Amino acid sequence: MTPEIPAFVRRMDTLRPWTPAPILFANAESGGPVDHGFFVEILERFRQDLTAALPLDGVYICEHGAAITTEEDDPDGAVFALVREIVGPDVPIVATIDLHSNVSERMVAAVDALISYRRNPHTDMADRGADAAAALAELLDGVKTAVAHVRLPICPPPTVLLTAPGAGPYADLIAAAEATAAADPRLLNISIVGGFAYGDTPKNGLTVLATTRGDAALARRTAAGLAAYAWRERARFIPRLTPFDEAVALAKATGEQRGRPPVLLADVADNPGGGGRGNTVFLLRALLDAGARNVLLGVLTDPELAAEAHSLGEGVAFAARFNRAEQATYSEPFEAQATILRLSDGKGVGRRGQLAGCAFDLGPSVALAIDGIVLIVITHRHQCHEPAFFELFGLNIGAARTVVLKSRGHFRAAFDEFFTPEQIVEVDAPGLTSPLLSRFDFKKLPRPVVPLDRIDDWTPNVRLLQGGAR
Ligand SMILES: [Zn+2]
Repeated sequence: MTPEIPAFVRRMDTLRPWTPAPILFANAESGGPVDHGFFVEILERFRQDLTAALPLDGVYICEHGAAITTEEDDPDGAVFALVREIVGPDVPIVATIDLHSNVSERMVAAVDALISYRRNPHTDMADRGADAAAALAELLDGVKTAVAHVRLPICPPPTVLLTAPGAGPYADLIAAAEATAAADPRLLNISIVGGFAYGDTPKNGLTVLATTRGDAALARRTAAGLAAYAWRERARFIPRLTPFDEAVALAKATGEQRGRPPVLLADVADNPGGGGRGNTVFLLRALLDAGARNVLLGVLTDPELAAEAHSLGEGVAFAARFNRAEQATYSEPFEAQATILRLSDGKGVGRRGQLAGCAFDLGPSVALAIDGIVLIVITHRHQCHEPAFFELFGLNIGAARTVVLKSRGHFRAAFDEFFTPEQIVEVDAPGLTSPLLSRFDFKKLPRPVVPLDRIDDWTPNVRLLQGGAR
């Protein structure tokens, strides 16, 4: 379960006597659109169970916020609107979303407060769940909110949405929002929602939400001010990746020259956390061709290969055939002579970063040695943002000269004990989650949009979607 929900419950417990009425929680690794029939079933479950739970004093909705279905661009909006329809206009509703959410007007209009994460990697999920409880308690005490909303024509690629101090424009924007919120007690929450480019919907775009304790003018002013600041910084939302050949040469040199610091190559274009298949072999193949030494690579999703390794046993050498079953754009077949170092059931507990303390299950998994590279092959698609994914196999991350991770950025919260930000290289490899948006054929993304188009003039359209002009 996502950490917001237990944190919400813990904070509510401290605030007032209450009786939770849990309805339904569903979760999946990022991927393509949700099958619409399945979504309709989920929506129907919400309708029945929420109706059965009435009367309710308040509702907390915990969503990611960037879902699409095979037929619906705004399923999150459909859920929010359904909840409002069932509980009626007077029951307070608070929602939390990921900062990679694509926020629709329908979502904002349906709830009394919409709170997004402020940390990327997402280390503040529990804090935001607790914030939601505090906001709901105020609403139950009679506070009325005003929420102003601005969507900017900026669709930031995920690599420019980091929030560590000095990490980039989004970090600066979040810091400005936090300072603004802290300075005025009338402000209940400010959320700067970075969005999820690959969602490709009409609601894509960096979004500013200012929620006040009833002051509509302040909500508008705050949202407009932060939107103007984001707009001035728009040139900084253009990603800069390291060219593929340069990254491979760096890994080779690092393996050969002891005096160089180790490097972490982030395969940001094949990030399962953003919907990538986690099975591209571009970096693996190039590093083998270059003769790179002392490389750890994780984690590559290939259920057939993992199953074959489990049938053969540890110590066996065999011809490892990658992507024999799933061949698609970017997911090309590849064969190499490999030795099975160690097998695992793929079950463990995260020890650092986003998965710290959380059980994980990668399915039957194997550590393979191919020349100078040791790579982890797993069964259940997952981004590699947890050192335990290597340590399960007795591998020592600190001893590797190069570590290659299929993850966009969440690894930063866990691999920081081995690599400083200066040692991390975001590689421009081909893949479904490339931060270079010009490589994709967007159909519904509003245009013009930064970073794909040049825009000279833009005026914020600040809308008060809650607390007055609904
Ligand atoms: Zn996210």
